Amino acid sequence: MPETHSDLLGVLAARLGAKHVIVDPAAMEGYLVEERKLYRGAALAVVRPGTTEEVAFVVRECAKAQVAIVPQGGNTGLVGGGVPHTGIVLSLARLDRVREVNAFNAAITVEAGCILKTVQDAASEVDCIFPLSLASEGSCRIGGNIATNAGGVNVLRYGNTRDLVLGLEVVLADGRIWNGLKGLRKDNTGYDLKNLFVGSEGTLGIITAAVLKLFPRPKAQVVAFVGCASPHAALGLFESLRRTMGDELTAFEYLPRFALEIVLRHASGAVRPLAGDHLAYALIEVSSPDPDLDLREQLERSLGAAFESGTIEDATIATSEAQNAALWHLRESLSDVQGLEGGSIKHDVSVPVSDVADFIVAASKACEEALPGVRVCAFGHFGDGNIHFNLTQPVDMERSLFLAQWERFNRIVHDIVHAMNGSISAEHGVGLIKRDELARYKDPVALDLMRTLKQALDPQNILNPGKVVAVTGDLPPAL
Ligand code: FAD
Repeated sequence: MPETHSDLLGVLAARLGAKHVIVDPAAMEGYLVEERKLYRGAALAVVRPGTTEEVAFVVRECAKAQVAIVPQGGNTGLVGGGVPHTGIVLSLARLDRVREVNAFNAAITVEAGCILKTVQDAASEVDCIFPLSLASEGSCRIGGNIATNAGGVNVLRYGNTRDLVLGLEVVLADGRIWNGLKGLRKDNTGYDLKNLFVGSEGTLGIITAAVLKLFPRPKAQVVAFVGCASPHAALGLFESLRRTMGDELTAFEYLPRFALEIVLRHASGAVRPLAGDHLAYALIEVSSPDPDLDLREQLERSLGAAFESGTIEDATIATSEAQNAALWHLRESLSDVQGLEGGSIKHDVSVPVSDVADFIVAASKACEEALPGVRVCAFGHFGDGNIHFNLTQPVDMERSLFLAQWERFNRIVHDIVHAMNGSISAEHGVGLIKRDELARYKDPVALDLMRTLKQALDPQNILNPGKVVAVTGDLPPAL
């Protein structure tokens, strides 16, 4: 290790305490490998400050030594954004205080290292919800959610993380602290700075705290599972429910027949929801803060009309919270069980909602023609136009031979997305895995603006270098 680096670690240990500057390889291991095990990184140390001032100190010292900083929350990201290839990992895990809950202002102020579930629980104590909900909510941290502009299952009703952020506190690349922790619903005093940092994946600043929106807790909630003849029929149902149920429509998730089959084959406790077999399924949730509203009756009426018109083939509506949970279990098990069927090539994409069925049909056909036997598992947040267009390997193919075709399938799927004016990253971000794809598909003027912002806010390129947008210098390989 060069002398300047050991000097830096000494300075950091003197301020933070030696136990918060981790250099032991075994203790660092969990910070160097990401969720999907696609990337393994390397770092000088994992540094764990406990306050915003300590974060600012670490950033100032790293800026002086020109050492890169990779911020990390729960390390559940799916695009390799939190994996270091040089410099230090700055873990936000010790900044985990709920600073204030203000039910009257419907706002909560939390530090970046709060686990998402902790934020949800703090909201629930004042009879509210913080609606961001992901399968990783027990381990991802709110700073990571903001840095990736996470989506999840409630976007249809409440929006992405970006829509839930009222204010931020951020440590800039030179170590200054920007205090933008305002809980205002309206503030037109110039540029919207907080939105620069939402979704910036650690490349523009280090988020240390946030003011977030709360909402009234739903007191009535009903879940239904519906079978349809095609993705187009599912889209027809979505459109009619949006008109009849309005804001009460909280989630509209899509599963193809293959997805339900593998969930029923592998997920413990999964029970077939409908007697017959259908090509396309939708999981629908409606909710309201009004406990007296007969949501079930409303949903029954809407689904009845859809059945009469031939839009849907069958439906079941849950009659208890346990049944609600059992239907959600089918959707939530899907990510885990996919791996049990072999290798998966994954695409997290979005298109305009009106085109989502056309996209599923066109991309499935193109992939099936490119590799006969490939099993398309295109599922997800249909109501947001966001499909996890995943491909499962043919049953008789070598896993590694299949995964070697990732780049080829990127081209097929992303070209179709691009032609439909969609996005090659709907909710997971860009990180490392999609950096080069972004350079291929993003409007060149937009890319140029992104580089301009990066250079203005981080002229030394020390904040998560090589991620999202390539600026200059040595870059780690994207997948
Ligand atoms: P990390 O993985 O630690 O970091 C992610 C990125 O943010 C990195 O680039 C990192 O450098 C940066 N970063 C982290 N903290 C900060 C900070 N304080 N300041 C600046 N930059 C920071 N995502 C969805 O959008 N929707 C889903 O439905 C969804 N479901 C998932 C289900 C599972 C089972 C898993 C494992 C992941 C899922 N994800 C989903 C992906 C992931 O959970 C989200 O991207 C989450 O927001 C990441 O939070 P994290 O704290 O783990 O961030």
